[in-house]
Amino acid sequence: MRPVVTFLIAAIAIGVNVPTGHAQAGGPDHPSITVHGQTYTPRSILARNMGTEQDQTTQFPPHKIIGNVYYVGTRTLSSFLIVTPQGNILLDSTYERNVPTIQKSVADLGFKFSDIKILLGNHAHGDHQEGDALVKQLTGAQVIALAEDVPTLQNIKPGGKEHPIDKIIHDGDTVTLGGTTLVAHLTAGHTPGCTTWTMRAQDGGKIYNVVFHCSLRAQGALTPDLVDQFNRSFKVVRAMPCDVPLGDHPAQYRMLEKYPMMRSGGPNPFIDAANCNLETDIMEAMFHAALDEQQQANKTTR
Ligand SMILES: [Zn+2]
Repeated sequence: MRPVVTFLIAAIAIGVNVPTGHAQAGGPDHPSITVHGQTYTPRSILARNMGTEQDQTTQFPPHKIIGNVYYVGTRTLSSFLIVTPQGNILLDSTYERNVPTIQKSVADLGFKFSDIKILLGNHAHGDHQEGDALVKQLTGAQVIALAEDVPTLQNIKPGGKEHPIDKIIHDGDTVTLGGTTLVAHLTAGHTPGCTTWTMRAQDGGKIYNVVFHCSLRAQGALTPDLVDQFNRSFKVVRAMPCDVPLGDHPAQYRMLEKYPMMRSGGPNPFIDAANCNLETDIMEAMFHAALDEQQQANKTTR
């Protein structure tokens, strides 16, 4: 099938199947931007992120990324396992129906799901954190959330289950387990508490800065508050030391291209400092184009 045809089918599938808590699939598909030779529209970005319904729920081969960081998510929804001698940290439960898949991925890597002691989240949307209550139920893990996302998280209640929150933290706070420390960075915009997590991973005697980016995808009308949040977040993210860029959707860090390179040996493709800001470049260009469009529309209606 030609790529354009595949894309159209993916876009149609998304249009019909809007996932809960993930708005803006419909509506007009503009502006269009070109970044580093690639053209994007709001709908193409969403299609790239989400894939088909099947992509969202199909296990991607679990694999080591670097040091003690592993991928345990599906084809299009990231979930990361950080392994320590004192138990493990899970970043993103994704949809509740994916929890058994994540459980299987953890087991396939030779780890125990019950060793998950801490559950973190990327941002308060169903495709990243709907499964929190089930993970908590299965592991007893401590659920830690950034304050600004708490009200939205409390609205994610699959089957009426309360969203578990055991500890509320703030921008710059750290989470430590078994010698690994993750730093929570508020990078608001996509959600009020969108959290970029950073940590240092040791691999082959070297230390690498790992950045678990939060989506910087603007959605809906850009209020002055949101404009300030995004402008701040773009700056924060660009200033981060980064060797290994990761994201809440694998497409944000081109996992599908990198994973086969990893399998064929050679240098670790996930060490990709040159592309740490690639996704930010795309999102910032889209943000400015959307803002321009909004300002033009406001002028004409006045
Ligand atoms: Zn989202």
